[in-house]
Amino acid sequence: MAPSSATLGVLDALTWYRATLGEAPSHAPLRKDLRVDVAIIGAGLTGLSAALDLAEQGVRTAVLEAGPIGWGATGRNGGQICTGYTVSMKSFEKHLGRHGAQETFAISEEAKALIRERCEKYDIDCALAWGYLICANKPSQMDDLKEWAEELAAYGYDRCRIIDKATLEAEHLGSRVYHGALVDPGAGHFHPLKYAYGLARAAEEAGARIFEHSPVLEVEEERDGGIVLSCAEGHVRCDHLIIAANAYLGRLFPRLARRILPVASYVIATEPLGEERARGLIKRNEAVADANFVVDYFRLTPDHRLLFGGRCSYTGWHPKDLAAFMRPRMLRVFPQLADAEIDFAWGGHIAITMNRMPDAGILGRQGRILYAQGYSGQGVALSGMMGRLMAERILGMSNRFELFTRIRHIPFPGGVLRRPTHALGMLYYRLKDLVG
Ligand SMILES: Cc1cc2nc3c(=O)[nH]c(=O)nc-3n(C[C@H](O)[C@H](O)[C@H](O)COP(=O)(O)OP(=O)(O)OC[C@H]3O[C@@H](n4cnc5c(N)ncnc54)[C@H](O)[C@@H]3O)c2cc1C
Repeated sequence: MAPSSATLGVLDALTWYRATLGEAPSHAPLRKDLRVDVAIIGAGLTGLSAALDLAEQGVRTAVLEAGPIGWGATGRNGGQICTGYTVSMKSFEKHLGRHGAQETFAISEEAKALIRERCEKYDIDCALAWGYLICANKPSQMDDLKEWAEELAAYGYDRCRIIDKATLEAEHLGSRVYHGALVDPGAGHFHPLKYAYGLARAAEEAGARIFEHSPVLEVEEERDGGIVLSCAEGHVRCDHLIIAANAYLGRLFPRLARRILPVASYVIATEPLGEERARGLIKRNEAVADANFVVDYFRLTPDHRLLFGGRCSYTGWHPKDLAAFMRPRMLRVFPQLADAEIDFAWGGHIAITMNRMPDAGILGRQGRILYAQGYSGQGVALSGMMGRLMAERILGMSNRFELFTRIRHIPFPGGVLRRPTHALGMLYYRLKDLVG
């Protein structure tokens, strides 16, 4: 989905991230024919992470991006760096056995560490902060949180603790709506678009080429195994292709598109509240999410705004006035913000899979086309790691990528039933969130 005036919609309004990006280099579109070892479709966290690792190993790499860097979910998300996956590790055990599930959990931990390492190594200033709360909207969710903490401990991650309502309100949150929380000091938040531009800079310094405003229109595999990507004004010929287009893939690979459903989520950012007022909302600068199926997520920004995200559209319908649509949601948690202006409101597409586990695979006659998608709302950290795993496979350094290819996925129904069927299914979970 390229950001031309023809495609810009209500979701594509200026984000707080782009407004605060500072000086960012722009990259010319592809206007020639190019020969590289690896081409990557998409300059989000998945694609840029792979580009960096490949370029550092001397691999000739080109990234083709339909919009500017981070145009997709990477430049629109809540910036929350989460522990584990969207679903319980039990789901991974069903597909991969206990050993495989343990490996995938270790990879999710490495995903968080990778962000920290890269910020340090490449001097990326993206307001990285640690500390995370998952809050219970109703008493029964306290049991879910305890279960989650126990499951994580069984996987060797014993950093989480459960706190009651009184402690939550006294020490963490200026809100009275929650019944307690899980505190996770090993998860956190950052400015994902600054991070993405930091990865892009490091990748370019290592030799990668990045082309913005260059949607790939066609991909063809040639008899000799070469792969040719066609853009409007040039072609790239490569030996390996990484598809890192996620929910923004469109119709380029219908086979992949069927495996995910792009679901919209919306984010608002208040006016700057001043340090004292902002700290009164989230006392320890933690990232916060609730324990509902349709999650509310929020955090502070370095310029003392509240950035609040949530709601979901499975139907493709979006409210015209996102700020008005999201505001009541924010005021439910923080009624004291009734007088606060909303300065930014935007949305973006999350790629969900039917089983909410990431979808990765190997395509092409010679197995030289790799893809990773469908992080199901928890891809900020994982995307970077999936980029790394695809690079490792191409470099022949590890077979960790194959682990994810063993997860079985059921495609979403096609045709006119695609969205309504799933929207109906999700109604059950929304009602479950509401029932006490
Ligand atoms: C509103 C919102 C809130 C979220 N909040 C969180 C959160 O707090 N924590 C969390 O963990 N996850 C969150 N996510 C999910 C997370 O942002 C994504 O999982 C992650 O950014 C995926 O990165 P990616 O690089 O795979 O995809 P993207 O960032 O979507 O990048 C794909 C890129 O491919 C490009 N592209 C597509 N087709 C083509 C083509 N034909 N040619 C060239 N380029 C193409 C697109 O323009 C796009 O830039 C959120 C997502 C949204 C939308």
